[in-house]
Amino acid sequence: MEDSGKEGFGGFESRFLSHVDSNVDLYIGRLAEAVAIPSISSDLPNHLDDVVKMMKWTESHATKLGGDVTLLPNPAATAESPLPPIMLGTFLASERPAKKKTLCVYGHLDVQPADIADGWDSDPFVLTEKNGKLYGRGSTDDKGPALSWLWIIEAHRELGVDLPVNIKILFEGMEESGSAGMFEAIRDLAKPGEFLDDVDFFCISDNYWLGKTKPCLTHGLRGMAYFQLSVRCCEQDLHSGVSFMQLLGIDLDLPFDLHFLPGAMPSLTQPSHVRNNTDISTGPWGNCPRGHDRSDQTHVHPRRFVGKHFGRRRHGRCRCRHPPRRSPIRHNRF
Ligand SMILES: [Zn+2]
Repeated sequence: MEDSGKEGFGGFESRFLSHVDSNVDLYIGRLAEAVAIPSISSDLPNHLDDVVKMMKWTESHATKLGGDVTLLPNPAATAESPLPPIMLGTFLASERPAKKKTLCVYGHLDVQPADIADGWDSDPFVLTEKNGKLYGRGSTDDKGPALSWLWIIEAHRELGVDLPVNIKILFEGMEESGSAGMFEAIRDLAKPGEFLDDVDFFCISDNYWLGKTKPCLTHGLRGMAYFQLSVRCCEQDLHSGVSFMQLLGIDLDLPFDLHFLPGAMPSLTQPSHVRNNTDISTGPWGNCPRGHDRSDQTHVHPRRFVGKHFGRRRHGRCRCRHPPRRSPIRHNRF
């Protein structure tokens, strides 16, 4: 098999991109199949079969690509509380795999609930193109990004080019529900000789683009704080991780950083090198009441308005990601 290094990355890149361009319909068709599986992990009584189906759908594609693929029974599952399996896949470079680095890609195949009554313009489980954009639950978070790794491997195979690194795939089906079972799985998989033992790098492929030309590169995560909060707010579903900070910004504009997570929240209000110079669109929630201009707005800006649509009561499962190099402080009240 040809090594991409032999023709130089530039030569490979143009062949790779034209291969991608000529397979757009195929990729969109597969994404539509994946989106059509309502793998809603927060409603396992009704959707466990769908989450399992999604894991098996992906397993079968990965196996067809020649990967060594297994569905690991979820270590936190019990007879009373069954949980979907975790997918492990290994794709070794054909030439000198032992000399190549090993990258482990993490992604998730479950989605948050979605109902057309939540304000979707089209059926959330029917991938729909509108003005050149694809709409569908999970199309970006995280089925699209996760599955694209398989199509990248496929493109290398079809172009007869060896993988520049060994790729390991770690996909779960419970991310939107606290990643049940992942802690136990990772603890075991990291033991000597196990799946994660020889991994050199991780790529968490569960992220956003800040605009059409700027990817979001998460450079550090530290700690999590979980809590549930009911907020009367806007008319549409908002992502707990991305938008919930903005909800907090409405109701708790001033005292919020003092009364909620001392130590965590103030750090999010500090300007960061990520926040500046982004071309992120402001979405439906309008301008910052404090007069920050648009270039200063990112998804972690806790003071953005959500607009004037108050009404529905929403339960938010909120995760606060602690920025690196900040010390968490214990909080006492909600
Ligand atoms: Zn996600």
